[in-house]
Amino acid sequence: MSYCPRCAAPLETEVLNGLPRRVCRSCGFIYWNNPLPVAGAAVIDAGGRLLLARRSEEPRRGYWNLPAGFMEWGESAETGARREVAEETGIAIEITGYLASVGAGHAESPWHSITYVFFYGRPVGGVLAPGDDAEEVAFFAPGELPAEIAFTSNQVALDRWRADRAAGLPAALGLAAGR
Ligand SMILES: [Zn+2]
Repeated sequence: MSYCPRCAAPLETEVLNGLPRRVCRSCGFIYWNNPLPVAGAAVIDAGGRLLLARRSEEPRRGYWNLPAGFMEWGESAETGARREVAEETGIAIEITGYLASVGAGHAESPWHSITYVFFYGRPVGGVLAPGDDAEEVAFFAPGELPAEIAFTSNQVALDRWRADRAAGLPAALGLAAGR
């Protein structure tokens, strides 16, 4: 950010709370660049398969990711995750548990920081069909995931899913033992 969004003066860099921030010497505005929340879900069907969406947009077009997206004003993370899954895959889900939160690095989100909140979900309706920024959607067996996973954050979440499966967590296995 080059200019103050409040008074249009040029911003300067200053270390505040241990990190460089863009600050305005004219009006005192500070651009903290706090993370934006992104909500998504690992949707596991009754057969233990995972729902992935193939990206139709840059960055990482053609790669697969967990359905996720920026939350809307006033949404809970759970509501945002349900909405994003429905928009991208056509599938209505019930949240069955918490998977992981992952802070994305600069390589994944160069302009502002984002923090993913991933839940577990299971399908309760809808018809599988790509929408929004997905060009293909499919369920994959645990041992047959595509190699082209879009983001490090997704890899972290998938590693957590594998660990939860190994531990026999019902939500990670697609069992309806959630809340
Ligand atoms: Zn200013």
